[in-house]
Amino acid sequence: MPADETPLEQITTRIAAAAALARREAEEVELIAVSKTRTPEEIAPLIAAGHRSFGENRVQEAEGKWPALIAATPGIRLHLVGQLQSNKAAEAVGLFDVIHSVDRPSLVAALGRAMDAAGKRPDCYIQVNIGEEAQKGGCAIGDLPALLGEARAADLPVIGLMCVPPAGTEAAPYFALLAELAKRNGLAGLSMGMSEDFETAVMLGATCVRVGTALFGAR
Ligand SMILES: *Cc1c(COP(=O)(O)O)cnc(C)c1O
Repeated sequence: MPADETPLEQITTRIAAAAALARREAEEVELIAVSKTRTPEEIAPLIAAGHRSFGENRVQEAEGKWPALIAATPGIRLHLVGQLQSNKAAEAVGLFDVIHSVDRPSLVAALGRAMDAAGKRPDCYIQVNIGEEAQKGGCAIGDLPALLGEARAADLPVIGLMCVPPAGTEAAPYFALLAELAKRNGLAGLSMGMSEDFETAVMLGATCVRVGTALFGAR
């Protein structure tokens, strides 16, 4: 790789190479630059380079920095990738284009009400607790069909599944399982893969990868 390539160019190249190996089109994979904890000054170079998809994990932090950036740049797509409290559902619906962390009936209900009130329906992913970890967000694998039914009944536009595999383990089996669950449930979207494993995720069908550290440096 040429030494003068930016991290954005390097990651884009690596996504394209992984997609090519899997006989997929690179355009099928959206690179979400996860900009949590980053300042507008750190985000600006990516926007200047033409990047438009960004992810945040806290509603309040996002409200502090994104409205000004969005006003200055048409076409920003803002993704909520972190856990969402039901009492923040209306704010999340107002600010985000995509919500990746729908994981329980109470949140489905709150988002349904917020979307009805706002007249705006951000795309949603159901987050699955793919490693069945006690402390982790995401719905249990066994609860997925019922939660999906509730989300569809509440008119949430569910486009796919999202996961964060257990830390320190080989991610591929979890990505493969998420892809299988999506297929069984008739969903095309797969939000999986982070800085350490996005190429694996792309080879296993990810339609969006969420990359922070590899783009911005260590947090
Ligand atoms: C922070 C975060 C990421 C990005 O993680 P990196 O390892 O920095 O790439 C992806 N997904 C979620 C849900 C996150 O909270």
